[in-house]
Amino acid sequence: MNPTRRQFGQQVLSTAAGLGLHTVGATGASAAVGRSLVAGGLAAAVATSAEAAATTQRVRALVVGTGYGGAVTALRLAQHGVPVTMLEMGQLWNKPGADGKVFCNSLKADERAMWFSTQAAAVITSFFNIPINIKVPYSAGVLDVIRAPHGAMDVYCGRGVGGGSLVNMAILITPQREVLRELMPVGFDVDDFLRRICPKALTQLNANFIRPAYFESSAYHRYARVNRAALARAGHTTDFLACGYDFNYMEQEEAGAVPKSALGMEGGYGNNFGKKDLTKNYLADAIGTGLVSIRALSAVKRIEESPEGGYLVTVDEINVSGVLLRRYVLACDNLFLAGGSMGTSEMLVRARETGTLPRLNAAVGTQWSANSDIFVVRGNPVWHPTGAKQSLVPATGFRARDQDGRHVFSMNIPLPMGVESWANMNIVMTQNPETGTFRHDAASGRVVLNWKDQNAPAVRSTKFIFDRVNQAAGTHYRTDLFSGKTFADSTTYHPVGGCPLGKATDLFGRVHGHERLYVMDGALIPGALVANPALTVAALAERNIEHILQRDF
Ligand SMILES: Cc1cc2nc3c(=O)[nH]c(=O)nc-3n(C[C@H](O)[C@H](O)[C@H](O)COP(=O)(O)OP(=O)(O)OC[C@H]3O[C@@H](n4cnc5c(N)ncnc54)[C@H](O)[C@@H]3O)c2cc1C
Repeated sequence: MNPTRRQFGQQVLSTAAGLGLHTVGATGASAAVGRSLVAGGLAAAVATSAEAAATTQRVRALVVGTGYGGAVTALRLAQHGVPVTMLEMGQLWNKPGADGKVFCNSLKADERAMWFSTQAAAVITSFFNIPINIKVPYSAGVLDVIRAPHGAMDVYCGRGVGGGSLVNMAILITPQREVLRELMPVGFDVDDFLRRICPKALTQLNANFIRPAYFESSAYHRYARVNRAALARAGHTTDFLACGYDFNYMEQEEAGAVPKSALGMEGGYGNNFGKKDLTKNYLADAIGTGLVSIRALSAVKRIEESPEGGYLVTVDEINVSGVLLRRYVLACDNLFLAGGSMGTSEMLVRARETGTLPRLNAAVGTQWSANSDIFVVRGNPVWHPTGAKQSLVPATGFRARDQDGRHVFSMNIPLPMGVESWANMNIVMTQNPETGTFRHDAASGRVVLNWKDQNAPAVRSTKFIFDRVNQAAGTHYRTDLFSGKTFADSTTYHPVGGCPLGKATDLFGRVHGHERLYVMDGALIPGALVANPALTVAALAERNIEHILQRDF
């Protein structure tokens, strides 16, 4: 991608948000964007809401969601010459809050933190058994927690232009060949995916590694070195992980040369600096083409077939307080769903059950997985402090096998308490075969996740690994951080599935039963990946759109 166009796209995104605009870019107005590039100004490229609405009532390609799947799709469509309109239910983040920063600190949650909830959410629910209860104003914050009934599962999702990339730790894991071979449908070319597609996505997502010498000396990675030593005693080799956070920036943070972000307790509610979220790469490039517009605070509520062909999409435009500003219908020829595992599954299950997309098959709403995320905290002896200062972006992890020889992957993650805790936290991903489903509750109109204590296999694998670490390293389980539980097994940062590839769709995300309707996000992943999913989602979208552009456009 031409760096000038990327820079231009980044500037457009930040200027629009800074001006308080919710629509950015100019579908069908590429000439205007080109002119402003030449002139070096931004004004012509930042469309107002009214202009965008007037010019895009029927669009050729509509992409719902601006996370990894949506961002890849929009960029590649636009590079192919197809104008794209993107709809995003969350905010366009770039307007500074009262503290002069766009995103709030993880220890000072405010109205920017949570998506229409008054309770700040965290996987750590207590500290030394004292419940953590932080209230926040009700607003369109950046982190959503979707709760399955009866506390069975809390699903964390990013909200805003950039989707999950805004709140995640930016760790970019290439999934294992063996896991993909078992997981993906027959006909999925695992070798091509790993050899050609994943590296392409890694490059585009600015993947980099921590410099080993820096890691060894950093005060902020002491916790990970303590964990590495304990893991080594149980025979596990710790690896450095590819990441979209700029580790050069992190080194400068520690040197005091630049504002602190990952080293300044930022993460979870967004990073103000250092992280290359999607607005710095895929989305910036997409806007830079001049063919992509994004409407923020615009949620898709209903999808139906259009009598003229294509689809009619009902959109609710809201303000940050959740007040409905207007409801309108957009028509499109091609509809790409990229609302994430939860969002896309919800839209399609509702459409099937209410009869607006009557030919969706029974696989829609199945094979949902929590990616078997398990959180575990271990206490170290007092002579092994882990440090009050911890980088909120981790850099290390390890692979292992469980009691049955199944794959396990775990990241050594920080425990961001701001005080010494002598503790190490791991997020563990296993080959849990359990999956959940979605159902439409006709009375409330809501789509509900069915999941019930299905993480037991993942807990068994986690216990097998960490019992041995405790034994070898003299560490012990800390239950005081999970309100008495040893393993936090009802939270996931990594929802996947709901529209399984090869079942709800063909092998490239074309939805069965409805032409020119595509799923392009984590909903396609048909079960536990044993890896954080962002890279796989981006790579799947790259793979699918490459094929779709060749055949359908
Ligand atoms: C706290 C946290 C940490 C994480 N850390 C990592 C990590 O380090 N590495 C990693 O690989 N993964 C991580 N993840 C997960 C990763 O971010 C997701 O797997 C990834 O974002 C999924 O991409 P996606 O395109 O499927 O969906 P998303 O990125 O979730 O994007 C979907 C977008 O669609 C929007 N949307 C949904 N429904 C609608 C609708 N009806 N109308 C309009 N817009 C809609 C959403 O607001 C969202 O912006 C983390 C997640 C969280 C929450």
